[in-house]
Amino acid sequence: MMTGDQYRDSLQDGRAIYFEGKRIDDLPSHPIFGVCVDNVAAGYDRMYSPEPDAISPIMGVPKSAEELRSRIPLLHEAGMLAHVTYTSIMTLITAAGRLADANPDYIIRIGDFVDDMQKRDLRITQCITDAKGDRSRPPKLQDDPDAYVRVVDRSADGVVIRGAKLHITAAILGHELLTIPTKAMKADEQMYSIGCSVPVNAEGVKIVNTSYAPRHHDPRDFPVSGTSHVPEGFVIFDDVFVPNERIFLDGETTYAAVFAHSLGLWERLGGLSGMADEADVMVGLAQLIAEANGLAGVSHIKEKISEMIIHAALIRASLEAAVSNCQSGPEGAVFPDELYTNAGKYHGAANYNSMVRHLHDIAGGSVLTAPAISDLENSETGPLIRKYMATMDGVDGEYRTRLFHAIRDLTADAYGGWKAVTNIQAGGGLFAQRIVTRRHYDMDNAKRKALASAGLSEDDVH
Ligand SMILES: Cc1cc2nc3c(=O)[nH]c(=O)nc-3n(C[C@H](O)[C@H](O)[C@H](O)COP(=O)(O)OP(=O)(O)OC[C@H]3O[C@@H](n4cnc5c(N)ncnc54)[C@H](O)[C@@H]3O)c2cc1C
Repeated sequence: MMTGDQYRDSLQDGRAIYFEGKRIDDLPSHPIFGVCVDNVAAGYDRMYSPEPDAISPIMGVPKSAEELRSRIPLLHEAGMLAHVTYTSIMTLITAAGRLADANPDYIIRIGDFVDDMQKRDLRITQCITDAKGDRSRPPKLQDDPDAYVRVVDRSADGVVIRGAKLHITAAILGHELLTIPTKAMKADEQMYSIGCSVPVNAEGVKIVNTSYAPRHHDPRDFPVSGTSHVPEGFVIFDDVFVPNERIFLDGETTYAAVFAHSLGLWERLGGLSGMADEADVMVGLAQLIAEANGLAGVSHIKEKISEMIIHAALIRASLEAAVSNCQSGPEGAVFPDELYTNAGKYHGAANYNSMVRHLHDIAGGSVLTAPAISDLENSETGPLIRKYMATMDGVDGEYRTRLFHAIRDLTADAYGGWKAVTNIQAGGGLFAQRIVTRRHYDMDNAKRKALASAGLSEDDVH
């Protein structure tokens, strides 16, 4: 396994990465992304074992509902890069089980790749979402044929790919870019049916980053995102060679959607588990600020918090249902239940804005205007801010100010905006979750029950 320092060194590999117009030559010491590297390095150190055959706990495959359940808090603690690595491995293992008829070599290569990643303790990010061009047209009919990643050349040793994958979480922090088709492909779209893994520093890979990291000199005013943020990468494959051993699908169009469907399940389980914790945090903040404002006993405030609690409880319940109804696949690996994972993720994302609305409604305008920690520390302003931000004996002005900072950072600033869009789009968007939920729902059972309630039987259906 790698230590944090070895991880830092592993990033000095000539990767072509950019931020706001400039190339980043030294990622670990970058003023914004250095903290991301530090967080990942700390995770490596926390999980490090000197045993020669040790495998990181985030890279092992869960074999029971209990293992699946216990992995969730571990991943939350380990952070986003660990989460996307785990979901990449689980995606490949899920896909391998579904590729049996495509080409046995792919299954062997996937197995070898996962072993290699586990042995070298490398981190993998997920490149699925293509540039896509005109959304109403398939890849083959785009004005620019590179709107979806495709094979542009091939030799006996491998293929050359071209295209771009957008919004790739933590891409520059990892080592490998798991690159898979974003959707099903038609029979004549072989060149777009490419699944493979590409090292971040491969020749021709360029990654342009965006970040919701607060641009503020004092991270204390951003208790949620100030020292914990992750960039998204615009990953460009500008004619990148991929050797055969790293190709997991090449031209078999009927299997193009296997990877994205496999990933969707794991990505949405991750989203659901994140939303379950986040919903508890939002309920807690609503209750704390209501108490600090002296309004915790007022009926309309209690009703809003009750609605928030119901939302939080339903998200937690669907997560638990997804885990406890998991199914077993090849070699004993378990997979969360599709129906509860997708329905829960959809419900959490679709109703997130009402959680934010209630929290803002309960908290008041200081969500946006509470002075900074440095104003509290200023001897001229600090005592006066403390005096006027305090509300009663036992509710200190600094304490209440800090609660407002947390609410602003979580819901009303750069990270809050990022979160609002991410809840809707990440894991494939609300529409994708609706489709999968519908596909896995037992409609025949529902119809039978409906007929029985009407005093009818299936024989009565015309
Ligand atoms: C913060 C963040 C992190 C992300 N991380 C990753 C990541 O790590 N890896 C990755 O691969 N992706 C990632 N994504 C991408 C995410 O999966 C996509 O944003 C999502 O799938 C939607 O794709 P899009 O952004 O291209 O929007 P669009 O595809 O343009 O969708 C916009 C709307 O149009 C609808 N639509 C699109 N095409 C059609 C059509 N043909 N017919 C009908 N309706 C259509 C969609 O349903 C949606 O309502 C991330 C996104 C965000 C915001």
